[in-house]
Amino acid sequence: MSVQIIVNKDKCNGCEKCYYACPKGPRIWKKDKDGKFYVYDVSDCHNCKICVGKCPVDAITINILKDE
Ligand code: SF4
Ligand code: SF4
Repeated sequence: MSVQIIVNKDKCNGCEKCYYACPKGPRIWKKDKDGKFYVYDVSDCHNCKICVGKCPVDAITINILKDE
């Protein structure tokens, strides 16, 4: 089982709440050149969904993928 995080860049306003709320923020989240956030490395994510709850614009979707 693995985690996939999708950020809707059209919605993201760069507020940084995902980055600061996530227990592994600096490892997982990064800001792109447009000031939007993206998932740099999902391997430390433990699917707590804190980021989803903190995002004020519902830009984050987490999917659980079953390994083949
Ligand atoms: S689900 Fe939890 S660990 Fe994963 S990116 Fe969001 S806040 Fe971080
Ligand atoms: S919390 Fe949501 S709106 Fe704020 S930077 Fe993260 S993805 Fe973008």
